Amino acid sequence: MMNQIPLTPYVAEFIAKEQPLRIGGKLLESAASLEIINPSTGGKLAQVARAGKVEIDLAVAAAKDAFENGAWTRMLPNERSRILWRLADLIEARADIFGQLDALDNGKPFHVARDVDAHWSARHFRYFAGWADKIEGATIPVGTPDRLTYTKAEPLGVCGLITPWNYPLLMAAWKLAPALAAGNTIVLKPSEETPLSALYLADLALEAGLPPGVLNVVPGYGHDAGAALAAHPDVAKVGFTGSTATGRRIVEASAGNLKKVSLELGGKAANIIFDDADLDKAIAGAFWANFGNNGQSCTAGSRLYVHKSIHDKVLDALAKIAPTVSVGPGLDDPAHDLGPVISKTQLGKVLGFLDGGEGTVVTGGARMDREGWFVPPTIIADLTDDMRLVREEVFGPVLAVLPFEDDSEVLGRANASQYGLAAGLWSRDVSRVRQFADKLQAGTVWVNCWGDTDAAAPFGGVKQSGYGREMGREAISLYTQTKCVWIN
Ligand code: NAD
Repeated sequence: MMNQIPLTPYVAEFIAKEQPLRIGGKLLESAASLEIINPSTGGKLAQVARAGKVEIDLAVAAAKDAFENGAWTRMLPNERSRILWRLADLIEARADIFGQLDALDNGKPFHVARDVDAHWSARHFRYFAGWADKIEGATIPVGTPDRLTYTKAEPLGVCGLITPWNYPLLMAAWKLAPALAAGNTIVLKPSEETPLSALYLADLALEAGLPPGVLNVVPGYGHDAGAALAAHPDVAKVGFTGSTATGRRIVEASAGNLKKVSLELGGKAANIIFDDADLDKAIAGAFWANFGNNGQSCTAGSRLYVHKSIHDKVLDALAKIAPTVSVGPGLDDPAHDLGPVISKTQLGKVLGFLDGGEGTVVTGGARMDREGWFVPPTIIADLTDDMRLVREEVFGPVLAVLPFEDDSEVLGRANASQYGLAAGLWSRDVSRVRQFADKLQAGTVWVNCWGDTDAAAPFGGVKQSGYGREMGREAISLYTQTKCVWIN
Protein backbone atom coordinates (compact mmCIF):
# COMPACT_ATOMS: atom_id res chain seq x y z
CA MET A 1 0.00 0.00 0.00
CA MET A 2 1.44 3.38 -1.03
CA ASN A 3 1.23 6.49 1.10
CA GLN A 4 -1.08 9.22 -0.09
CA ILE A 5 -0.27 12.90 -0.20
CA PRO A 6 -2.60 14.31 2.48
CA LEU A 7 -5.38 16.51 1.13
CA THR A 8 -5.15 20.17 2.06
CA PRO A 9 -8.00 21.04 4.47
CA TYR A 10 -9.48 23.21 1.72
CA VAL A 11 -9.60 20.37 -0.80
CA ALA A 12 -10.97 17.94 1.78
CA GLU A 13 -13.82 20.35 2.50
CA PHE A 14 -14.31 21.19 -1.18
CA ILE A 15 -14.96 17.60 -2.19
CA ALA A 16 -16.93 16.73 0.96
CA LYS A 17 -19.93 18.90 0.11
CA GLU A 18 -21.91 19.17 -3.11
CA GLN A 19 -20.44 22.01 -5.12
CA PRO A 20 -23.05 24.43 -6.46
CA LEU A 21 -23.00 26.17 -9.84
CA ARG A 22 -21.26 29.54 -10.05
CA ILE A 23 -23.66 31.99 -11.71
CA GLY A 24 -23.71 35.80 -11.44
CA GLY A 25 -21.13 35.77 -8.66
CA LYS A 26 -23.37 33.54 -6.54
CA LEU A 27 -23.52 29.89 -5.60
CA LEU A 28 -26.56 28.22 -7.10
CA GLU A 29 -27.94 24.81 -6.22
CA SER A 30 -29.53 22.69 -8.90
CA ALA A 31 -32.18 19.99 -8.75
CA ALA A 32 -29.85 17.57 -10.52
CA SER A 33 -26.30 16.59 -9.70
CA LEU A 34 -23.26 14.96 -11.24
CA GLU A 35 -21.41 12.20 -9.46
CA ILE A 36 -17.70 12.65 -9.97
CA ILE A 37 -15.76 9.39 -10.10
CA ASN A 38 -12.18 9.01 -8.95
CA PRO A 39 -10.49 7.24 -11.88
CA SER A 40 -7.74 5.98 -9.59
CA THR A 41 -10.25 3.91 -7.58
CA GLY A 42 -13.42 3.73 -9.65
CA GLY A 43 -15.29 4.99 -6.57
CA LYS A 44 -17.22 8.20 -5.96
CA LEU A 45 -15.05 11.25 -5.37
CA ALA A 46 -17.44 14.17 -5.15
CA GLN A 47 -20.79 15.52 -6.20
CA VAL A 48 -21.46 18.76 -8.02
CA ALA A 49 -24.62 20.55 -9.09
CA ARG A 50 -25.54 19.74 -12.66
CA ALA A 51 -26.67 22.40 -15.10
CA GLY A 52 -29.32 21.67 -17.70
CA LYS A 53 -30.96 24.02 -20.16
CA VAL A 54 -32.63 26.09 -17.41
CA GLU A 55 -29.34 26.76 -15.63
CA ILE A 56 -27.57 27.49 -18.91
CA ASP A 57 -30.23 30.12 -19.59
CA LEU A 58 -29.57 31.64 -16.16
CA ALA A 59 -25.81 31.63 -16.68
CA VAL A 60 -26.08 33.19 -20.14
CA ALA A 61 -28.45 35.85 -18.76
CA ALA A 62 -25.94 36.66 -16.00
CA ALA A 63 -23.10 36.89 -18.52
CA LYS A 64 -25.22 39.05 -20.82
CA ASP A 65 -26.09 41.43 -17.94
CA ALA A 66 -22.43 41.60 -17.00
CA PHE A 67 -21.48 42.38 -20.59
CA GLU A 68 -24.12 45.06 -20.92
CA ASN A 69 -23.51 46.75 -17.57
CA GLY A 70 -19.98 47.40 -18.79
CA ALA A 71 -18.31 46.75 -15.43
CA TRP A 72 -15.79 44.54 -17.22
CA THR A 73 -16.11 45.47 -20.85
CA ARG A 74 -15.72 49.19 -20.30
CA MET A 75 -13.30 48.88 -17.41
CA LEU A 76 -10.04 50.64 -18.17
CA PRO A 77 -7.91 48.07 -20.00
CA ASN A 78 -5.00 48.42 -17.60
CA GLU A 79 -7.37 47.71 -14.70
CA ARG A 80 -8.60 44.55 -16.50
CA SER A 81 -4.98 43.67 -16.91
CA ARG A 82 -4.31 44.08 -13.18
CA ILE A 83 -7.22 41.81 -12.27
CA LEU A 84 -6.08 39.07 -14.66
CA TRP A 85 -2.56 39.40 -13.31
CA ARG A 86 -3.94 39.09 -9.77
CA LEU A 87 -5.83 35.96 -10.84
CA ALA A 88 -2.55 34.52 -12.16
CA ASP A 89 -0.90 35.24 -8.81
CA LEU A 90 -3.76 33.55 -6.96
CA ILE A 91 -3.57 30.44 -9.18
CA GLU A 92 0.13 30.22 -8.47
CA ALA A 93 -0.36 30.75 -4.74
CA ARG A 94 -3.05 28.04 -4.67
CA ALA A 95 -1.30 25.69 -7.08
CA ASP A 96 -1.38 22.95 -4.44
CA ILE A 97 -5.17 23.13 -4.32
CA PHE A 98 -5.53 23.13 -8.10
CA GLY A 99 -2.99 20.32 -8.30
CA GLN A 100 -4.93 18.18 -5.85
CA LEU A 101 -8.29 18.83 -7.50
CA ASP A 102 -7.02 17.89 -10.97
CA ALA A 103 -5.04 14.94 -9.58
CA LEU A 104 -8.20 13.64 -7.92
CA ASP A 105 -10.76 13.89 -10.68
CA ASN A 106 -8.45 13.46 -13.67
CA GLY A 107 -6.02 11.05 -11.99
CA LYS A 108 -2.82 12.67 -13.28
CA PRO A 109 0.16 12.82 -10.90
CA PHE A 110 -0.16 15.66 -8.38
CA HIS A 111 3.23 17.14 -9.23
CA VAL A 112 2.23 17.36 -12.89
CA ALA A 113 -1.18 18.86 -12.08
CA ARG A 114 0.48 21.44 -9.87
CA ASP A 115 3.74 22.22 -11.69
CA VAL A 116 2.46 21.92 -15.24
CA ASP A 117 -1.30 22.44 -15.36
CA ALA A 118 -1.63 25.03 -12.59
CA HIS A 119 1.61 26.92 -13.15
CA TRP A 120 1.16 27.05 -16.92
CA SER A 121 -2.39 28.31 -16.35
CA ALA A 122 -1.01 31.12 -14.22
CA ARG A 123 1.53 31.92 -16.94
CA HIS A 124 -1.29 31.97 -19.43
CA PHE A 125 -3.35 34.51 -17.48
CA ARG A 126 -0.26 36.64 -17.01
CA TYR A 127 0.57 36.62 -20.72
CA PHE A 128 -2.97 37.67 -21.67
CA ALA A 129 -3.14 40.18 -18.81
CA GLY A 130 -0.42 41.89 -20.81
CA TRP A 131 -2.64 41.97 -23.90
CA ALA A 132 -5.61 43.71 -22.26
CA ASP A 133 -4.18 47.19 -22.90
CA LYS A 134 -2.53 46.37 -26.21
CA ILE A 135 -5.54 45.42 -28.33
CA GLU A 136 -5.28 48.09 -31.00
CA GLY A 137 -7.11 49.12 -34.14
CA ALA A 138 -5.62 50.98 -37.09
CA THR A 139 -6.10 54.23 -38.97
CA ILE A 140 -6.71 53.44 -42.62
CA PRO A 141 -5.40 55.71 -45.40
CA VAL A 142 -8.58 55.56 -47.56
CA GLY A 143 -9.02 57.13 -50.99
CA THR A 144 -12.00 59.35 -50.05
CA PRO A 145 -11.12 62.93 -49.01
CA ASP A 146 -12.23 64.33 -45.63
CA ARG A 147 -12.67 60.99 -43.99
CA LEU A 148 -11.11 59.71 -40.82
CA THR A 149 -11.32 55.94 -41.12
CA TYR A 150 -10.23 53.73 -38.27
CA THR A 151 -10.84 50.28 -36.83
CA LYS A 152 -11.57 49.09 -33.33
CA ALA A 153 -11.17 45.54 -32.03
CA GLU A 154 -14.30 45.04 -29.94
CA PRO A 155 -15.23 42.16 -27.67
CA LEU A 156 -17.81 39.73 -29.00
CA GLY A 157 -20.17 39.54 -26.03
CA VAL A 158 -21.05 36.34 -24.17
CA CYS A 159 -18.63 33.53 -24.96
CA GLY A 160 -19.58 29.91 -24.25
CA LEU A 161 -16.45 27.93 -23.49
CA ILE A 162 -16.65 24.13 -23.51
CA THR A 163 -13.65 22.16 -22.29
CA PRO A 164 -12.49 18.52 -22.05
CA TRP A 165 -11.15 16.44 -19.18
CA ASN A 166 -7.53 15.85 -20.15
CA TYR A 167 -6.16 19.17 -18.81
CA PRO A 168 -9.13 20.39 -16.79
CA LEU A 169 -7.69 23.69 -15.56
CA LEU A 170 -5.27 24.40 -18.39
CA MET A 171 -7.80 24.00 -21.22
CA ALA A 172 -10.11 26.42 -19.40
CA ALA A 173 -7.22 28.87 -18.95
CA TRP A 174 -6.30 28.69 -22.66
CA LYS A 175 -9.74 30.04 -23.54
CA LEU A 176 -10.59 32.21 -20.56
CA ALA A 177 -7.46 34.32 -20.52
CA PRO A 178 -7.73 35.79 -24.05
CA ALA A 179 -11.54 35.98 -23.90
CA LEU A 180 -11.41 37.95 -20.64
CA ALA A 181 -8.48 40.13 -21.70
CA ALA A 182 -10.54 41.22 -24.71
CA GLY A 183 -13.46 42.23 -22.48
CA ASN A 184 -15.92 39.38 -23.08
CA THR A 185 -18.06 37.71 -20.44
CA ILE A 186 -18.14 33.96 -20.07
CA VAL A 187 -20.17 30.85 -19.48
CA LEU A 188 -17.72 27.99 -18.98
CA LYS A 189 -18.97 24.42 -19.19
CA PRO A 190 -16.19 22.13 -18.02
CA SER A 191 -16.20 18.41 -18.75
CA GLU A 192 -18.67 16.42 -16.69
CA GLU A 193 -15.73 14.19 -15.68
CA THR A 194 -13.51 16.94 -14.25
CA PRO A 195 -15.39 20.07 -13.17
CA LEU A 196 -13.70 20.69 -9.79
CA SER A 197 -10.81 22.98 -10.71
CA ALA A 198 -13.04 25.15 -12.94
CA LEU A 199 -15.49 25.68 -10.07
CA TYR A 200 -12.66 26.67 -7.78
CA LEU A 201 -11.28 28.99 -10.46
CA ALA A 202 -14.62 30.86 -10.51
CA ASP A 203 -14.18 31.55 -6.77
CA LEU A 204 -10.63 32.81 -7.27
CA ALA A 205 -11.74 35.05 -10.14
CA LEU A 206 -14.14 36.85 -7.80
CA GLU A 207 -11.38 37.11 -5.23
CA ALA A 208 -9.11 38.63 -7.88
CA GLY A 209 -11.71 41.31 -8.58
CA LEU A 210 -13.58 40.03 -11.64
CA PRO A 211 -17.05 41.61 -11.43
CA PRO A 212 -19.91 39.17 -10.70
CA GLY A 213 -21.38 37.54 -13.80
CA VAL A 214 -18.23 37.93 -15.88
CA LEU A 215 -17.24 34.29 -15.32
CA ASN A 216 -20.01 31.74 -14.79
CA VAL A 217 -19.14 28.06 -14.37
CA VAL A 218 -21.79 25.44 -15.03
CA PRO A 219 -20.83 21.75 -15.04
CA GLY A 220 -23.19 19.48 -16.93
CA TYR A 221 -23.43 16.86 -19.61
CA GLY A 222 -22.43 17.68 -23.15
CA HIS A 223 -25.65 16.56 -24.82
CA ASP A 224 -27.63 18.66 -22.36
CA ALA A 225 -25.82 21.69 -20.91
CA GLY A 226 -23.17 21.80 -23.64
CA ALA A 227 -25.72 21.55 -26.43
CA ALA A 228 -27.89 24.26 -24.84
CA LEU A 229 -24.89 26.58 -24.62
CA ALA A 230 -23.81 25.90 -28.20
CA ALA A 231 -27.32 26.67 -29.49
CA HIS A 232 -28.08 29.65 -27.23
CA PRO A 233 -29.19 32.76 -29.18
CA ASP A 234 -27.49 35.15 -26.73
CA VAL A 235 -24.11 33.46 -26.99
CA ALA A 236 -21.91 35.26 -29.53
CA LYS A 237 -19.15 32.71 -29.68
CA VAL A 238 -18.30 29.15 -28.71
CA GLY A 239 -14.70 28.22 -27.96
CA PHE A 240 -14.48 24.44 -27.87
CA THR A 241 -11.86 21.80 -27.16
CA GLY A 242 -12.88 18.19 -27.49
CA SER A 243 -13.51 15.46 -30.00
CA THR A 244 -14.04 16.00 -33.71
CA ALA A 245 -17.49 14.38 -33.53
CA THR A 246 -18.62 16.87 -30.87
CA GLY A 247 -17.02 19.72 -32.81
CA ARG A 248 -19.27 18.91 -35.74
CA ARG A 249 -22.35 19.01 -33.49
CA ILE A 250 -21.28 22.38 -32.13
CA VAL A 251 -20.95 23.84 -35.60
CA GLU A 252 -24.47 22.62 -36.40
CA ALA A 253 -25.87 24.02 -33.16
CA SER A 254 -24.17 27.36 -33.77
CA ALA A 255 -26.01 27.90 -37.06
CA GLY A 256 -29.16 29.27 -35.38
CA ASN A 257 -27.63 32.67 -34.60
CA LEU A 258 -24.50 32.16 -36.71
CA LYS A 259 -22.30 32.42 -33.65
CA LYS A 260 -18.57 32.41 -34.14
CA VAL A 261 -16.87 29.11 -33.37
CA SER A 262 -13.30 28.05 -32.77
CA LEU A 263 -12.46 24.39 -32.46
CA GLU A 264 -9.52 22.46 -31.05
CA LEU A 265 -10.33 18.86 -31.92
CA GLY A 266 -8.79 15.43 -32.13
CA GLY A 267 -5.51 14.32 -33.62
CA LYS A 268 -3.45 11.35 -34.73
CA ALA A 269 -0.04 12.94 -34.85
CA ALA A 270 2.70 11.39 -36.96
CA ASN A 271 6.13 11.42 -35.36
CA ILE A 272 9.01 10.46 -37.68
CA ILE A 273 12.46 9.23 -36.65
CA PHE A 274 15.02 9.39 -39.47
CA ASP A 275 18.21 7.35 -39.54
CA ASP A 276 20.33 10.47 -38.97
CA ALA A 277 18.56 11.41 -35.72
CA ASP A 278 20.23 11.68 -32.33
CA LEU A 279 18.75 8.34 -31.35
CA ASP A 280 18.95 8.62 -27.57
CA LYS A 281 17.03 11.88 -27.67
CA ALA A 282 14.64 10.66 -30.34
CA ILE A 283 13.75 7.45 -28.49
CA ALA A 284 13.04 9.11 -25.15
CA GLY A 285 11.34 11.96 -26.98
CA ALA A 286 9.10 9.65 -28.99
CA PHE A 287 8.17 7.65 -25.90
CA TRP A 288 6.98 10.71 -23.99
CA ALA A 289 5.53 12.31 -27.12
CA ASN A 290 2.90 9.62 -26.95
CA PHE A 291 2.74 8.55 -23.32
CA GLY A 292 2.88 11.99 -21.71
CA ASN A 293 -0.44 12.62 -19.90
CA ASN A 294 -1.06 8.91 -20.44
CA GLY A 295 -1.64 9.36 -24.18
CA GLN A 296 -4.63 11.52 -23.34
CA SER A 297 -3.39 14.53 -25.28
CA CYS A 298 -4.78 15.74 -28.55
CA THR A 299 -1.16 16.13 -29.69
CA ALA A 300 -0.06 12.62 -28.65
CA GLY A 301 2.54 11.34 -31.14
CA SER A 302 0.60 8.11 -31.51
CA ARG A 303 1.80 7.15 -35.02
CA LEU A 304 5.54 6.65 -34.82
CA TYR A 305 7.26 6.12 -38.17
CA VAL A 306 10.83 4.84 -37.84
CA HIS A 307 13.32 4.44 -40.69
CA LYS A 308 13.58 0.72 -41.46
CA SER A 309 17.35 0.66 -40.84
CA ILE A 310 16.82 1.58 -37.17
CA HIS A 311 13.25 0.32 -36.67
CA ASP A 312 14.05 -2.81 -34.64
CA LYS A 313 16.59 -1.02 -32.49
CA VAL A 314 14.17 1.82 -31.71
CA LEU A 315 11.28 -0.54 -31.02
CA ASP A 316 13.44 -2.55 -28.66
CA ALA A 317 14.57 0.58 -26.80
CA LEU A 318 11.00 1.89 -26.49
CA ALA A 319 9.87 -1.46 -25.13
CA LYS A 320 12.61 -1.29 -22.51
CA ILE A 321 11.47 2.13 -21.27
CA ALA A 322 7.85 1.05 -20.79
CA PRO A 323 8.32 -1.20 -17.71
CA THR A 324 10.44 1.47 -15.99
CA VAL A 325 7.50 3.87 -15.99
CA SER A 326 5.41 3.78 -12.84
CA VAL A 327 1.66 3.99 -13.21
CA GLY A 328 -0.72 4.66 -10.34
CA PRO A 329 -3.04 7.08 -8.52
CA GLY A 330 -2.33 10.78 -8.86
CA LEU A 331 -1.91 11.40 -5.15
CA ASP A 332 0.36 8.45 -4.34
CA ASP A 333 3.59 9.30 -2.55
CA PRO A 334 6.19 8.75 -3.93
CA ALA A 335 4.69 9.98 -7.17
CA HIS A 336 4.04 7.93 -10.28
CA ASP A 337 4.88 8.98 -13.80
CA LEU A 338 1.41 8.33 -15.17
CA GLY A 339 -2.12 8.04 -13.83
CA PRO A 340 -5.21 6.13 -14.88
CA VAL A 341 -7.32 6.47 -17.99
CA ILE A 342 -10.03 9.05 -17.26
CA SER A 343 -13.18 6.90 -17.05
CA LYS A 344 -14.67 3.46 -17.37
CA THR A 345 -16.03 4.45 -20.78
CA GLN A 346 -12.62 5.60 -21.95
CA LEU A 347 -11.06 2.42 -20.53
CA GLY A 348 -13.56 0.42 -22.58
CA LYS A 349 -12.59 2.37 -25.72
CA VAL A 350 -8.87 1.80 -25.18
CA LEU A 351 -9.35 -1.91 -24.48
CA GLY A 352 -11.63 -2.12 -27.53
CA PHE A 353 -8.70 -1.00 -29.69
CA LEU A 354 -6.42 -3.56 -28.04
CA ASP A 355 -8.96 -6.37 -28.37
CA GLY A 356 -9.18 -5.67 -32.10
CA GLY A 357 -6.19 -7.96 -32.59
CA GLU A 358 -4.32 -5.54 -34.85
CA GLY A 359 -0.53 -5.92 -35.02
CA THR A 360 1.75 -7.45 -32.39
CA VAL A 361 1.72 -6.26 -28.79
CA VAL A 362 5.33 -5.50 -27.87
CA THR A 363 4.64 -4.38 -24.31
CA GLY A 364 1.52 -3.75 -22.19
CA GLY A 365 -1.70 -4.58 -23.97
CA ALA A 366 -4.14 -5.29 -21.13
CA ARG A 367 -5.78 -3.61 -18.16
CA MET A 368 -3.70 -3.63 -14.99
CA ASP A 369 -4.83 -5.99 -12.26
CA ARG A 370 -5.80 -3.40 -9.65
CA GLU A 371 -8.68 -1.07 -8.79
CA GLY A 372 -9.18 2.01 -10.97
CA TRP A 373 -8.93 2.46 -14.73
CA PHE A 374 -5.27 1.62 -15.30
CA VAL A 375 -3.61 0.57 -18.55
CA PRO A 376 0.21 0.36 -18.78
CA PRO A 377 2.11 1.98 -21.65
CA THR A 378 1.31 -0.23 -24.62
CA ILE A 379 3.37 -0.48 -27.80
CA ILE A 380 2.11 -2.20 -30.93
CA ALA A 381 4.16 -3.14 -34.00
CA ASP A 382 3.53 -5.01 -37.28
CA LEU A 383 0.72 -2.65 -38.25
CA THR A 384 -0.38 -1.32 -41.62
CA ASP A 385 -1.62 2.19 -42.30
CA ASP A 386 -5.19 1.08 -42.99
CA MET A 387 -5.66 -0.35 -39.48
CA ARG A 388 -7.80 1.43 -36.87
CA LEU A 389 -4.84 1.75 -34.49
CA VAL A 390 -3.05 3.82 -37.11
CA ARG A 391 -5.99 5.84 -38.39
CA GLU A 392 -8.10 6.55 -35.31
CA GLU A 393 -7.43 8.52 -32.18
CA VAL A 394 -7.14 6.11 -29.21
CA PHE A 395 -6.69 8.87 -26.62
CA GLY A 396 -4.99 6.48 -24.23
CA PRO A 397 -1.54 4.94 -23.60
CA VAL A 398 -1.16 3.11 -26.91
CA LEU A 399 1.65 3.73 -29.41
CA ALA A 400 1.66 2.41 -32.98
CA VAL A 401 5.19 1.92 -34.40
CA LEU A 402 5.66 1.52 -38.17
CA PRO A 403 8.76 1.28 -40.40
CA PHE A 404 9.32 3.43 -43.50
CA GLU A 405 11.81 3.38 -46.36
CA ASP A 406 12.20 6.87 -47.78
CA ASP A 407 11.33 10.52 -47.30
CA SER A 408 8.60 10.97 -49.87
CA GLU A 409 6.90 7.76 -48.80
CA VAL A 410 6.79 8.73 -45.12
CA LEU A 411 5.65 12.27 -45.91
CA GLY A 412 2.68 10.90 -47.83
CA ARG A 413 1.84 8.44 -45.07
CA ALA A 414 2.15 11.07 -42.35
CA ASN A 415 -0.23 13.37 -44.23
CA ALA A 416 -2.74 10.63 -45.04
CA SER A 417 -4.93 11.44 -42.05
CA GLN A 418 -8.21 13.26 -41.54
CA TYR A 419 -6.47 15.04 -38.66
CA GLY A 420 -3.78 17.71 -38.69
CA LEU A 421 -3.14 19.02 -35.21
CA ALA A 422 0.53 18.22 -34.70
CA ALA A 423 3.38 16.35 -36.35
CA GLY A 424 7.07 16.03 -35.73
CA LEU A 425 10.38 14.65 -36.83
CA TRP A 426 13.77 13.74 -35.47
CA SER A 427 16.65 14.45 -37.82
CA ARG A 428 19.95 16.36 -38.00
CA ASP A 429 19.60 17.15 -41.70
CA VAL A 430 18.65 20.81 -41.99
CA SER A 431 17.29 20.66 -45.52
CA ARG A 432 15.16 17.64 -44.68
CA VAL A 433 13.88 19.42 -41.58
CA ARG A 434 12.95 22.49 -43.64
CA GLN A 435 11.21 20.41 -46.26
CA PHE A 436 9.16 18.45 -43.74
CA ALA A 437 8.31 21.54 -41.69
CA ASP A 438 6.87 23.02 -44.89
CA LYS A 439 5.04 19.93 -46.12
CA LEU A 440 3.64 18.26 -43.03
CA GLN A 441 -0.09 19.04 -42.85
CA ALA A 442 -0.37 20.09 -39.23
CA GLY A 443 -0.97 23.21 -37.16
CA THR A 444 2.20 22.54 -35.15
CA VAL A 445 5.42 20.84 -36.25
CA TRP A 446 7.98 19.86 -33.62
CA VAL A 447 11.55 19.16 -34.70
CA ASN A 448 13.82 17.25 -32.32
CA CYS A 449 11.34 17.95 -29.52
CA TRP A 450 7.70 17.27 -28.80
CA GLY A 451 4.78 18.82 -27.00
CA ASP A 452 6.20 22.30 -26.45
CA THR A 453 3.51 24.94 -26.13
CA ASP A 454 3.66 28.47 -24.82
CA ALA A 455 1.10 31.15 -24.05
CA ALA A 456 2.86 33.28 -26.69
CA ALA A 457 2.92 30.69 -29.51
CA PRO A 458 -0.19 29.95 -31.62
CA PHE A 459 -1.69 26.49 -31.38
CA GLY A 460 -4.45 24.81 -33.37
CA GLY A 461 -5.26 22.37 -36.12
CA VAL A 462 -5.75 21.99 -39.84
CA LYS A 463 -8.16 19.59 -41.57
CA GLN A 464 -10.51 17.90 -39.10
CA SER A 465 -8.45 18.91 -36.09
CA GLY A 466 -10.35 22.19 -36.06
CA TYR A 467 -9.95 25.87 -36.83
CA GLY A 468 -8.78 28.97 -35.03
CA ARG A 469 -5.51 29.41 -33.17
CA GLU A 470 -5.36 29.61 -29.40
CA MET A 471 -2.50 31.35 -27.61
CA GLY A 472 -0.33 34.16 -28.82
CA ARG A 473 -1.76 37.24 -30.54
CA GLU A 474 -4.02 35.09 -32.70
CA ALA A 475 -6.07 34.14 -29.65
CA ILE A 476 -7.04 37.78 -29.23
CA SER A 477 -8.49 37.70 -32.76
CA LEU A 478 -10.60 34.69 -31.75
CA TYR A 479 -12.33 36.78 -29.09
CA THR A 480 -12.62 40.18 -30.82
CA GLN A 481 -14.33 41.53 -33.92
CA THR A 482 -13.28 44.47 -36.03
CA LYS A 483 -15.45 47.55 -36.39
CA CYS A 484 -14.55 50.06 -39.08
CA VAL A 485 -15.56 53.68 -38.39
CA TRP A 486 -15.80 56.38 -41.11
CA ILE A 487 -16.00 59.97 -39.91
CA ASN A 488 -16.71 62.77 -42.34
P1 NAD B 1 -15.84 15.38 -25.93
O1 NAD B 1 -16.00 15.99 -27.27
O2 NAD B 1 -16.63 14.20 -25.60
O3 NAD B 1 -16.19 16.45 -24.80
C1 NAD B 1 -15.59 17.71 -24.74
C2 NAD B 1 -16.56 18.67 -24.10
O4 NAD B 1 -17.69 18.81 -24.96
C3 NAD B 1 -17.11 18.21 -22.76
O5 NAD B 1 -17.26 19.33 -21.92
C4 NAD B 1 -18.48 17.66 -23.14
O6 NAD B 1 -19.41 17.70 -22.09
C5 NAD B 1 -18.89 18.59 -24.25
N1 NAD B 1 -19.89 18.06 -25.17
C6 NAD B 1 -20.13 16.77 -25.50
N2 NAD B 1 -21.15 16.69 -26.39
C7 NAD B 1 -21.56 17.97 -26.61
C8 NAD B 1 -22.57 18.55 -27.44
N3 NAD B 1 -23.39 17.81 -28.19
N4 NAD B 1 -22.70 19.89 -27.45
C9 NAD B 1 -21.89 20.67 -26.70
N5 NAD B 1 -20.93 20.17 -25.89
C10 NAD B 1 -20.76 18.84 -25.85
O7 NAD B 1 -14.30 15.17 -25.76
P2 NAD B 1 -13.55 14.59 -24.46
O8 NAD B 1 -13.77 13.14 -24.46
O9 NAD B 1 -13.90 15.37 -23.26
O10 NAD B 1 -12.06 14.99 -24.82
C11 NAD B 1 -11.29 14.18 -25.62
C12 NAD B 1 -11.21 14.75 -27.01
O11 NAD B 1 -10.78 16.10 -26.98
C13 NAD B 1 -10.20 14.04 -27.86
O12 NAD B 1 -10.71 13.78 -29.13
C14 NAD B 1 -9.04 15.03 -27.98
O13 NAD B 1 -8.25 14.90 -29.08
C15 NAD B 1 -9.73 16.32 -27.91
N6 NAD B 1 -8.85 17.35 -27.41
C16 NAD B 1 -8.36 18.26 -28.27
C17 NAD B 1 -7.50 19.25 -27.84
C18 NAD B 1 -6.97 20.28 -28.78
O14 NAD B 1 -6.43 21.26 -28.34
N7 NAD B 1 -7.14 20.10 -30.07
C19 NAD B 1 -7.13 19.30 -26.50
C20 NAD B 1 -7.64 18.35 -25.63
C21 NAD B 1 -8.52 17.38 -26.10
